[in-house]
Amino acid sequence: MSWLDFESQHVWHPYASMLNPGPVYPVKRAEGVFLEFEDGTRVIDGMSSWWCAIHGYNVPELNAALLEQSSKMSHVMFGGLTHKPAAELAKRLLSLAPANMSHVFFSDSGSVSVEVAIKMALQYWQAKSCPEKHRLLTIRSGYHGDTFGAMSVCDPESGMHHLFSGVLAQQLFADRPAATNDDEWDESQIAAFESRIKTHHHELAAVILEPIVQGAGGMRFYAPEFLRRVRLLCDEYDVLLIIDEIATGFGRTGTMFACEQAGINPDIMCVGKALTGGYLSLAATLCSAAVCGGIHADSNDEQSGVLMHGPTFMANPLACAVAVASIDLLLASAWQQRVLDIEVQLKEELEPCRGFDSVADVRVKGAIGVLEMKESVDVANVQRLLIEQGVWLRPFGKLLYTMPPFVIRPAQLGTLTSAMKQVCGQI
Ligand SMILES: *Cc1c(COP(=O)(O)O)cnc(C)c1O
Repeated sequence: MSWLDFESQHVWHPYASMLNPGPVYPVKRAEGVFLEFEDGTRVIDGMSSWWCAIHGYNVPELNAALLEQSSKMSHVMFGGLTHKPAAELAKRLLSLAPANMSHVFFSDSGSVSVEVAIKMALQYWQAKSCPEKHRLLTIRSGYHGDTFGAMSVCDPESGMHHLFSGVLAQQLFADRPAATNDDEWDESQIAAFESRIKTHHHELAAVILEPIVQGAGGMRFYAPEFLRRVRLLCDEYDVLLIIDEIATGFGRTGTMFACEQAGINPDIMCVGKALTGGYLSLAATLCSAAVCGGIHADSNDEQSGVLMHGPTFMANPLACAVAVASIDLLLASAWQQRVLDIEVQLKEELEPCRGFDSVADVRVKGAIGVLEMKESVDVANVQRLLIEQGVWLRPFGKLLYTMPPFVIRPAQLGTLTSAMKQVCGQI
């Protein structure tokens, strides 16, 4: 039996059936913006491996950081021990994050960083003797991860609520603001949210939102003004604000963090995905001094007053070292200009897709280009068509979208968008 046959019979893929798996393509190596399959086919990666590989693949600076760190130590427990890569990374994160962020909790994936953010918020109110403030408010069409706390704040229809009803924490949802492509604002966009927070603030620990861009819950954008108003309402009603920058962080929307576009400070912030430039799994939950101080305010029993989380691979030194190198590489590059250039080109080349009968909407924000179709996309068929054009994308639902590595060249991006266009005409 070939390794590929063995794999297809025994190894699960994301959101997939083991009985009736869709096609999977074996990758041999990756370099720059290219993935190379076992049969030698080379495709331009328009997905950055789910938002992560902002510098592309096989990046000399990141390889060197990994090698150097692995010659010192690959991992040590973080309980009672520490190391320079963790400190160096925390220093960089706090210097880039909104000014009020002051403490960092490292974990091993985005979903876990969301769990930690929720725990921080719950422990904060417990320590303030307000245990009734234990629920979360968010907007529909969100995505925050696949663990149970994170799932409870994903969109209740497109998420997995129906599979786990009775198990998931009962959170509160407001309608999302009307999606905008050009940041238009009118007061009606905040009405649903305002009414929810007004009615429920006494039981709310926190609001959790993806800033400006809702990713895996539907690839929709909303006006920065919405986020600014949410911040004001959280202040008015004494509710913490958790900003989930896992997909948007590190430049994807044109600013280092998307919440900068609203000029707001979160109370708690999650980062992951592009944090290590796509090399290793690492995430972090940042919080303000006020949140940190609040959690520690209650030191009557030995568990309250202590943040109760501690992943085995917390602050893994290899991951921290490669994250430091990735951030340094990003800051040394003309990333802002590159993302802007990608945005301009995506707008220019995807906008004409509105002319196809199959296309319902075209949306571009930063280095994110989205075609929303009228019907659900047949993933296997569309991927086959795209690969014939030398392009790797992974559509979901009605969405055919790209968030390419920032290092993509204009001609390569052109190949991507013309493949997307071609597919629109064929489905
Ligand atoms: C991907 C994602 C997560 C979950 O991160 P994982 O590393 O997959 O656990 C959480 N929030 C947002 C906004 C994401 O895009």
